[in-house]
Amino acid sequence: MARVYAVASAKGGVGKTTTTANLGTTLAMAGHDVVVVDGDLGMPNLAGALGVDPDGATLHDVLTGEAAVEAAVYDGPAGLSVVPGSNALEAFATANVRELDAVISALEATHDIVIIDTGAGLSDDTFVPLKLADEVVLVSTTEREALGDTEKTRQLGDRIGADIVGVVLTRVDQSNPNAEVVASLLDAGVIAVVPEDPAIREALNTQIPVVARSPDSIAAAGYRALAEALTGQP
Ligand code: ADP
Ligand code: MG
Repeated sequence: MARVYAVASAKGGVGKTTTTANLGTTLAMAGHDVVVVDGDLGMPNLAGALGVDPDGATLHDVLTGEAAVEAAVYDGPAGLSVVPGSNALEAFATANVRELDAVISALEATHDIVIIDTGAGLSDDTFVPLKLADEVVLVSTTEREALGDTEKTRQLGDRIGADIVGVVLTRVDQSNPNAEVVASLLDAGVIAVVPEDPAIREALNTQIPVVARSPDSIAAAGYRALAEALTGQP
């Protein structure tokens, strides 16, 4: 049975999509059969981070019953499978996140690891992936506001019985990691630290995830540490 992860934080712009793309690629590079799913139905941008340009069905088409799951699975880097979303506003209006359950079940049958990127906020679009996941990976920067919003996601997860594995701290200023603030504002253990790294932006511009494009960067090392923390394998 596949392991299903949701990558979550109520705060936007903290690095959820970057984390999903790089965690998925790292695990694929290690030989796992991984699929990443763009569960941010409003602002899907996972495909772009992975250099995937969907020319056919998207997750939105699957959620409205217009396409089969297999039709929305694309090839990403290092053998990673990618289920992208649609950027059409109309698709967002008609897609029903409640149908995600069946999509994830189908992907679980054909992959070892399923990773769902989620959107910001605390709506059904984030609630449903948290509920479907075996483990929830929180993502936050060390800013007070981001930590506060991420803590709300943690509380929501607790309320619905989700298994929160911990938090990935992103964009960390290495000279000031703010560790005490983190510990006090977020009731979740830190499982990995990804430093602020210009290599991330360069990677995004070229649409190749940093772990594949710049494996020697400090951000790539952070993402490899995350993969190791989750799987227990170096
Ligand atoms: P979210 O999915 O939570 O909205 P993203 O993954 O899209 O966040 O990241 C938001 C922005 O932050 C992007 O422009 C991304 O390139 C940048 N970013 C994320 N992580 C880092 C990092 N470690 N160093 C530098 N920039 C980063
Ligand atoms: Mg995102």
